[in-house]
Amino acid sequence: MRTPFIAGNWKMYKTTAQALEFAGRFAAMDRPAGVNVALAAPFTQLAALKKKLEGSGIKLAAQNMHYEEEGAFTGEISAAMLREIGVDYCIIGHSERRQYFGETDDTVNQKVKKALGAGILPICCVGESLEIREAGEAAEYVSSQVRAALKDVSAGEAAQITIAYEPIWAIGTGRTATPGQAGEMCGLIRETLKELYGTDVSEKTVIQYGGSVKPSNASELMHTEHIDGALVGGASLVPEDFMDIVRF
Ligand code: PEP
Repeated sequence: MRTPFIAGNWKMYKTTAQALEFAGRFAAMDRPAGVNVALAAPFTQLAALKKKLEGSGIKLAAQNMHYEEEGAFTGEISAAMLREIGVDYCIIGHSERRQYFGETDDTVNQKVKKALGAGILPICCVGESLEIREAGEAAEYVSSQVRAALKDVSAGEAAQITIAYEPIWAIGTGRTATPGQAGEMCGLIRETLKELYGTDVSEKTVIQYGGSVKPSNASELMHTEHIDGALVGGASLVPEDFMDIVRF
């Protein structure tokens, strides 16, 4: 049985003061048992949020990390640095990182392996552009992204990874994939995992949908086969909205 997993991705929003205000309000609300919840915050907020969230059961995620252990990489943050703070998860390969910061299937794979080695659980993002979808190539494209991200990752490690299916055309656009479209693609990702690692891993892996998830559509998406969770951008910025999604 997979535990539903709802993660909020704050992107480059909120100062530390605003983040702490959010965390205080959010942690004080009634939250359903049996739903795993994480907040993916900018680097500067992580240490303060870790303290603030102590004892709440709410997990902490980073939005990116570097794949090297250490070195002359000005402006970068390593997996060990995140682990030292007590970060639980790291989003890897978000489409905004692929689009604006030169992230490739290869760097995604290197980051996934480095995160796992450091005890950080990857939330690995995949998803097609509108052009690829309209050309009828979405399934092949996303399946190859999954294979590339998991290259040289063992079955034991793969079972710890969350995959987020985030069609680029649905991120921040208000245009949500229909439950049918999202469920079909998440099912295809599960099928790819089965081919790579067998049924045990594919049935254990948590697969999230992301792309304009909001309180009004969360329930239907979350009750669709193969969708085990949501990666939520815009609607995770307001505690009440995000909690409505967690309560799906
Ligand atoms: C995201 O940032 O991963 C995302 C899905 O954003 P939004 O919910 O705003 O579409």
